[in-house]
Amino acid sequence: MKTTNDYLPHPIFASDEKRVPRVLLAPQRYIQGNGVLDHMGNYLSLLNTRRAGILVSTRGQQADGARVIDSLENSGIDPVISTFNGECSLDEINLHAGHLESKSVDCLVAIGGGKCVDAGKCIAYRLGVPVVIVPTLASNDAPCSALSVLYTPEGVSSGVEFFPDNPALVVVDTGVIANASERYLVAGMGDAMATWYEARVCLQNPNATTTTGTRPTLAAAARGEMCAKTLFSEGQSAAEAVAANQVTDSLENIVEANTLLSGLGFESGGLAVAHGIAQSYTAVPVVHDNYLHGEMVAMGTLTQLVMESKEEARRVAVFFAEVGLPIHLGQLSLSADDRSALDIVAGATMEFPFIGNMPLALTPESILTSIIEAHELGLAVADAIGDTAYRRLHCAST
Ligand SMILES: [Zn+2]
Repeated sequence: MKTTNDYLPHPIFASDEKRVPRVLLAPQRYIQGNGVLDHMGNYLSLLNTRRAGILVSTRGQQADGARVIDSLENSGIDPVISTFNGECSLDEINLHAGHLESKSVDCLVAIGGGKCVDAGKCIAYRLGVPVVIVPTLASNDAPCSALSVLYTPEGVSSGVEFFPDNPALVVVDTGVIANASERYLVAGMGDAMATWYEARVCLQNPNATTTTGTRPTLAAAARGEMCAKTLFSEGQSAAEAVAANQVTDSLENIVEANTLLSGLGFESGGLAVAHGIAQSYTAVPVVHDNYLHGEMVAMGTLTQLVMESKEEARRVAVFFAEVGLPIHLGQLSLSADDRSALDIVAGATMEFPFIGNMPLALTPESILTSIIEAHELGLAVADAIGDTAYRRLHCAST
């Protein structure tokens, strides 16, 4: 795996290849509720913060960032803003680390979507300070983990960076999530649904290892299973709540599933081919430019499931169709005839470090076959139950 920093978990936790331990990682504290942003000063007092670096986009500074800054100032904490420009690339990370280095900040607060959150972890690591994550979308499970996915300045997935510590605090304001677009919450469900199926593969395969190079814990797998169960039962009503900008119990449960259960589940439960395919879709410009991580993961999950169980693949495809996630290549602006794009995806998937966790050996040909099978299953499901939800989420934005 391509990494860019000097910390790697494998030599710490998995130095004895014959006796690999089980390891569970988690943030120190996870706080979720409607209005919690207004109490950030209280939470940061747990870290004895006096001066906090704030990574937030220009747009975020007008909205959620302003609330956080107010709360910090009311608690006597000095905020130092660094404006996030939108990409979790080394160029951008080094720019912020350079800017904040001389400012004597004692923690870094990253306020925004998945890329801002991941960039924040990289910057905090370079500054040697704890990171506080404030996700403003529930579109991915990046907030809780001790790793960041890096991208080129053009946005193509380019590697992973690991950190010795998980975030000190993860603070999720469900009022903020309820006022974001429904499509983001739904994309988060796509990312979260993969967690259980990838963790299940790792749990059942005695040779599988997690992101730390270790064996999965039952605790992480149980969180993945709870995550999938919550999605099936409450995903649709949570999407309806966000469409109406309301915080309901279902929304609280789905935000927790997308952020906490999925985050703990993937990091210490293990990944498999679903995420390999998802990351590989970023190398296809039409997909990269128009779709969210969780939407690519949805297609990756269906592809993994057709390798395992057609019945489960259909059940998941029906759920995805109900909430508006892509279930066939047409819903990623591709078709089964785009062989050059699909060859890129299949080839890049072979480079993904966790495909070896699958119980069967994969080849570019077998991956391609499964992508097409998943696509055909998705077409059949779309024929049977329609694509109303997908079209509602995508007509305005793609
Ligand atoms: Zn993911």
